[in-house]
Amino acid sequence: MIYADNAATTRLDEEAFDSMRKYMVEEFGNPSQPYSFSRSTRKALLESREIIASCIGADSDEIFFTSGGTESDNWALKGYMNKQKDKSLLVSSIEHHAVLNTASALKRVGTEVRYLKVNEEGTVLPSFLESEIDNNVALVSVMLANNEIGSIQPLNELSKITHNIGARIHTDAVQAVGHINVNVNDLDVDMLSASAHKFNGPRGIGFLYIRKGTDLYPLIDGGGQEKKLRSGTENVASIVAMAIALKKNNDEISRNKEKLTCIENELISRLKIKGLNFIRNGSPNRIPGNVNLSFKDADGEMLLHRLDLMGICISTGSACDSKNSQISHVIEAIGVPPEYAYGTIRISFGRDNTINDAITIANAIEKVVAEKI
Ligand code: PLP
Repeated sequence: MIYADNAATTRLDEEAFDSMRKYMVEEFGNPSQPYSFSRSTRKALLESREIIASCIGADSDEIFFTSGGTESDNWALKGYMNKQKDKSLLVSSIEHHAVLNTASALKRVGTEVRYLKVNEEGTVLPSFLESEIDNNVALVSVMLANNEIGSIQPLNELSKITHNIGARIHTDAVQAVGHINVNVNDLDVDMLSASAHKFNGPRGIGFLYIRKGTDLYPLIDGGGQEKKLRSGTENVASIVAMAIALKKNNDEISRNKEKLTCIENELISRLKIKGLNFIRNGSPNRIPGNVNLSFKDADGEMLLHRLDLMGICISTGSACDSKNSQISHVIEAIGVPPEYAYGTIRISFGRDNTINDAITIANAIEKVVAEKI
């Protein structure tokens, strides 16, 4: 089997996995309990928070553990907008549904939501934000890297424009953290969402970075964990594993990028040599390993299933939309012509992939597209 759907989820790092056992069956104390048995879980939480904070240039008291990217996005948008009476929310039109559907939920209860367009590379140009933002906007949410086409956004410039009018900015960095260098101060963002299973950590755990002084309501109320902002007994084993996985991936960013670029280039050049008619979507400034292709007069859904029969896992459009055979909102927003748009697939290579995987995938695509088997 060749797994080339790392934007959907990644294989759990073995060292991260091994670290979990201790906090599940040996030192399983509730970190909120005062007795000495819980000391080690409290220490593990503290250390993991510090490791994660240092990976993104934050202070450890600005890291709040959540159940993943979806929760972090919901919390950032709902938690902040619910404190802002009669203010507007600006989101990009190519956000993940964790942001878009949260914005729709806010719209249902009266928040004005406006959408930022992107250019044909899937980039929110600073001029697009400048023409849309006004004094009524309280929060801007623009993802750092897109999950379908990988385009990296000029967050630092967008943050400047946002702060100039006194608003706050959130970024969904789920596809970026652990894959490119992310520093909250360079990006100048107020909130940032991340999810462990996108960087070889466990599924079901993530975090929200909240810059000091950013005031938001909790999304989950209860026993008052995470400084009364995110209740629920902490998932210590997953938090420890998330920190290990993030540190490991962060230390290997440039080496992984180099390797993934070679694999991508191999795939693209082989597809070109075979004479297949396709467009590569997204900006040249994209997340390493992302290859989003639209084949002329092809059917992305059919491609996915044929490749699956050959033991290759890829995705059409967005994995989170896999039951939906419509053109994805991202492919629509960047204006891919219809004769190509329906033939869109996303191949996302990760650290376990090899050049041979690229060669096998290119041969398999040729079989399906050219021979229409
Ligand atoms: N945001 C982006 C950009 C994503 O790619 C995803 C997952 O595909 C999410 C949010 C949701 O993250 P999670 O699966 O951790 O809830």
